[in-house]
Amino acid sequence: MPPLKGSAPSRASLEKYNAKRDFRLTKEPAGALPRGSGKSLAFVIQKHAASHLHFDLRLECDGVMKSWAVPKGPSVDASVKRLAMEVEDHPVAYNKFEGTIPEGEYGGGTVMLWDRGTYTPDEVRAGESNNDAVRHALNAGKLAFTFHGERLHGSFALVRTRRGAERAQWLLIKHHDEFATEGRDIVAEVMTSVTTGRTMVQIAAGDNGALKSAEGADGVGAIDAMLPTPLTRALPEGEYAVEPAIHGVRAMAFVTNGTVQLISANGNSEHKKRTVPLDDYPDVQSALLRLARHITGALVLDGILCDGAFIVVDLLLRDAQLLVEEPWIERRRQLEDALVNTAPKTQSHLQSVRMNPWVACSSNDIDDAAAELHTADVIVKRIDSPYESGPSKLWIRIRADSDGGKL
Ligand code: MN
Repeated sequence: MPPLKGSAPSRASLEKYNAKRDFRLTKEPAGALPRGSGKSLAFVIQKHAASHLHFDLRLECDGVMKSWAVPKGPSVDASVKRLAMEVEDHPVAYNKFEGTIPEGEYGGGTVMLWDRGTYTPDEVRAGESNNDAVRHALNAGKLAFTFHGERLHGSFALVRTRRGAERAQWLLIKHHDEFATEGRDIVAEVMTSVTTGRTMVQIAAGDNGALKSAEGADGVGAIDAMLPTPLTRALPEGEYAVEPAIHGVRAMAFVTNGTVQLISANGNSEHKKRTVPLDDYPDVQSALLRLARHITGALVLDGILCDGAFIVVDLLLRDAQLLVEEPWIERRRQLEDALVNTAPKTQSHLQSVRMNPWVACSSNDIDDAAAELHTADVIVKRIDSPYESGPSKLWIRIRADSDGGKL
């Protein structure tokens, strides 16, 4: 039978290409043969707030999803190695799961579909299907593969470092290629579901994207910390709140029932977001975890890590309610209610996670308010101002000048 015009490259044509080359010696790419089933191999990454926050990497092979729990999630920085604990195979149908596993059940907690797509093994021998190549590579303890995802692209390696009857340990490493980016913390940057656009707190709150559409943005994870701007002209008349300026690491705490994550807004550029290792702030960690156990919904706290404590300056979300459009005074009221009335009033809690003090004043008596706070370096906020992402003229930084200012 004559070959059909315009048909896809046949298996035979790639076999010839491959048979002529020894891929242990040449750096040419091996020809990837069409798979027997003709179906692509799927992958998903699910962000899972179980007893410990982690990311589940799942690669389709032999009709199931081979699975690894990656505590810190994938990195696109080729110098970063991420631990990946082998876990049990999951059914392919699990690839569509996003939602909350009831507490007390296995893996109880919120699951977000963080990325999805197909993947291909980087090395395929002559006559081998992609599926067979993946199986052989995993059995040998080293798989090089390429993600064709919505968020992850390019080549990665999974390398087994320890066999175990229970749990083999692997490392997930980005290869150097055009998709590798030094210093980029993609899991801190991309905090929403790839399918629904929801954040973890929104999924936990059982919301169905209502917040996203109400806000017209990618949810609270897309909001940058509100930054004060210097005083450039006289303050307009009005009611203000004056707070001491705190020097430290600006961070957002995402607190859901049972889980905590800190994302810093500081960095080389002011828009760089990074996960802050909670271990670096043990007192803050334990106080936030205690808070997480005592709330039913979710909180997103804006604050500053300073002297081993987290000084909270704002509240962006409470349960399923986004508060950024509310006036500052209402957000502050809700913050006090959430931290003081809802949370346990233990001394260590109040010491390690506490609200920044404030004093009410008018545009004329800022100096008196600063004196009351015993500082010359203050942030002045209009009490009716909404929360804005990034630098804002609604928050004004005022420092007493060097010669006059003794307070
Ligand atoms: Mn998991």
